[in-house]
Amino acid sequence: MKRDIHIVGNWKMNQTLQAISDFFVEMSKMKMELKCQAWIAPQALHIPILKEIAFTTGAIAIGAQNCSEHDSGAYTGEISPLALADLGVEFVIIGHSERRTIYKEDNPLLNKKVLAALKHNLKVIYCVGETLLERESNLTFDVLEEQLAEGLKNISSDKLPLLLIAYEPVWAIGTGKTASAEQAEEAHAFIRSKLSAGAESTIILYGGSVKPDNIDMLLSKENIDGALVGGASLKAADFRALCSSASAYETRKG
Ligand code: PEP
Repeated sequence: MKRDIHIVGNWKMNQTLQAISDFFVEMSKMKMELKCQAWIAPQALHIPILKEIAFTTGAIAIGAQNCSEHDSGAYTGEISPLALADLGVEFVIIGHSERRTIYKEDNPLLNKKVLAALKHNLKVIYCVGETLLERESNLTFDVLEEQLAEGLKNISSDKLPLLLIAYEPVWAIGTGKTASAEQAEEAHAFIRSKLSAGAESTIILYGGSVKPDNIDMLLSKENIDGALVGGASLKAADFRALCSSASAYETRKG
């Protein structure tokens, strides 16, 4: 099994219709060079618009930043995984640190969300990562192990190919501080060692202040299969530069 290199943009609660249009005009110029997987998760309201544009340009997969653990019902304001699948959405990010911290989503809830998304055959990017305090207290591996063990319970083996992991040290998200390539590789190797069957083919992304000028050093590491990118994914020039760097790497051998 091989592991494709992925560049995944998490647009968070950003972008206007004009900004989206400008972004894709710019992106369409690089269609021929794109040899990596390029994915974008816009805010939920914009998903159908991006799906339409991606259908026309053909090169970018569109996903959601979150979903409910329920398919339907009286859950005002939630995003149904069934509705995402119905729209043809390809993937969903679950367990981003902003969801864990601001919205108090814990591992058992995230496990329900992971299972709900997989049930509809959505690819899942499950995010894990330690805070600065946890790193400084030598708790990084304990935290990662718990997030993986609790968040990924009861996944049936036929759904494992749909699972991706993002290692995002909380102290590196939106702060301009990137983990060194060695710190990231150490965490990725640890994560891979904790995944059960199929670990060698599981895509593990790094996230945390990834930019065009640090992507190469990260992708040079054996267990880093791409990046989950916030700030630098909002500008087409930066996203293009990231995809272009990633396109230069061969797929990993799993
Ligand atoms: C993120 O939101 O997942 C992220 C990694 O953000 P940034 O690239 O801005 O640090």
